[in-house]
Amino acid sequence: MDLPDAWAGRDAWTVLDTHFQDGQRFLNLCRTWQRDVRRPRLLHYVGIASVVPQVDVHDSAPDDERRSLARELADQLRDREAGFHRILLNHAQVSLTLCIGDAQVMLGEQAFQADTLLCAAPADKWAVQLLARRCKRGARFWMDTMPPRGTTAATDTQLPGLLQATGFELDSAVRPANALCGTFNPRWNIPTGRTPSHHVAHSPGRCAVIGAGIAGTSVAHALAMRGWQVTVFDQEARPAGGASGLPAGLAVPHVSADDNPRSRLSRNGTRLLLQHADRLLVRGQDWEPSGVLEKRADGNALWHPLACWIKPAELVQAWLASTGIAFVGNTQIAALQRTDELWTLHDLQGQDVGRYALVVLANAMGCAALLNGSGPGVQLKPDLQDKLKALQAVHGTLSHGTYAEALEGLPQTPVNGNGCFIPHVPSARGVQWFAGSTFEPDAMAASDLRTQHTANMERLSQLLPLQGFNLGETLDRGPVAQWSATRCVTHDRLPLVGPVETASGSGLWLCVGMGARGLSFSALCAELLVARLGAEPLPMEFSLSGGLDVNRLRRLRPFAADP
Ligand SMILES: Cc1cc2nc3c(=O)[nH]c(=O)nc-3n(C[C@H](O)[C@H](O)[C@H](O)COP(=O)(O)OP(=O)(O)OC[C@H]3O[C@@H](n4cnc5c(N)ncnc54)[C@H](O)[C@@H]3O)c2cc1C
Repeated sequence: MDLPDAWAGRDAWTVLDTHFQDGQRFLNLCRTWQRDVRRPRLLHYVGIASVVPQVDVHDSAPDDERRSLARELADQLRDREAGFHRILLNHAQVSLTLCIGDAQVMLGEQAFQADTLLCAAPADKWAVQLLARRCKRGARFWMDTMPPRGTTAATDTQLPGLLQATGFELDSAVRPANALCGTFNPRWNIPTGRTPSHHVAHSPGRCAVIGAGIAGTSVAHALAMRGWQVTVFDQEARPAGGASGLPAGLAVPHVSADDNPRSRLSRNGTRLLLQHADRLLVRGQDWEPSGVLEKRADGNALWHPLACWIKPAELVQAWLASTGIAFVGNTQIAALQRTDELWTLHDLQGQDVGRYALVVLANAMGCAALLNGSGPGVQLKPDLQDKLKALQAVHGTLSHGTYAEALEGLPQTPVNGNGCFIPHVPSARGVQWFAGSTFEPDAMAASDLRTQHTANMERLSQLLPLQGFNLGETLDRGPVAQWSATRCVTHDRLPLVGPVETASGSGLWLCVGMGARGLSFSALCAELLVARLGAEPLPMEFSLSGGLDVNRLRRLRPFAADP
């Protein structure tokens, strides 16, 4: 192939590999990228594999960097199952989207065009067409003509004709053994909107993110990684002044019988959060990949090995510390106005606080007032108005304290179910416990703190009936503190992520509605937002991403608590 020359000077490069196998091709390309001084800022690699790849970590190649990459990859592949997985390597500059499952199905779930296509020989013209849909004009391809074991492919004599009819030009000079290579260059116009995301890549510029919680700062970080200059505004003086100020919380997958979108989102989102935490935080102090024991309503227990407790404010700070991000506190954004292709932000006093090509609202419940207060320039479609009206401010209180006495029989790891208990979290004041959380659908009518705390202690006694003492009552005897905030919950308890269609133009995006699972959802939602914005590979199945879209159809479902 013509790499690394072809990617010189480009911001990002995207490879589609329909035959990921043991990942060796990926590792080789990563090393080429790492060594190249002209490399693009980001390397996106989408690998399709029928089963979870087995990476050889005892590679005999005399290259420490490659071995360490192989180890990192093998570690990330532990316990992966069918579906899409976003894996960030090399300080998050290499984004691997591993799609495990049937190749045709996985190709159908994509929404991007590759710069380089590496593939096995397709079986028929439909398979060739699927590949063509995933290529940019000018994309170089390399096709192994020996079909992988157990699969069929068009014959060596059929293939060139099939490829040419679909827009793939074959190299005439070079004809490697058992392979075909060339360029995707159809004689016809490639229709716009060929990608289901319908987005044309935005070039990095100046962006404002409203809201310095875990949703806003994860978006800010993902944008900054792509070269955007990001200013994060918050009405509070410090970051994480809203629900993300939670002193400690759990990131843990949600499990459902039908593996519903929330389950898939929380499972893959938790794994992505673990990667960020591992890279940016101090283990044992800011977070711990402790695993979580779930006590289910049916009396069974379920162990989640890939789960953690985390202090979200620490991650918010770490994301904000990325190059290209500035934080501006004490600034409530009250209105947005579109002038000269830019969004002007106004504060409560009506002052202009900056102009930006892109604005992302990640201000939880505050987004509805901001959009509605922005005048005729931000006229929203009735369906979005309706979804904003349906947002619920769900109040919650977490009880916490340090141990007044040594307690025997406490679990070593966090427990969740109807409520949660995090037993051992280090802090400057000593080892802390956390028990929570209340869930009061009407924030305005929330009961007083004492009542909420009592509810937490009762829930704890049921969650963890211990021999010899009542845990709720015992912990309640020590000095106890409470922390409260409001969750932003959507009508179907899935976040709202995507562009807001307004009367006056584009460049306004939403990332809100993290509900009771913001720690699991935020990082993956940020990847989704930037992927759609930049026409990059999606971090999740296209069909799943549709369920998070701001413009999804509103299914009317009654609100149910999600402790
Ligand atoms: C008691 C409790 C326990 C929880 N436990 C867990 C848990 O264990 N696991 C889990 O995953 N989740 C948990 N959650 C939920 C989690 O905290 C949230 O999902 C997450 O923090 C939401 O992040 P966010 O960034 O969307 O919102 P926030 O953190 O609320 O951030 C929104 C920010 O926007 C700012 N803002 C609003 N309007 C404006 C404006 N107009 N201009 C400027 N700034 C503005 C606010 O000041 C705020 O800082 C819990 C929540 C509560 C209340």
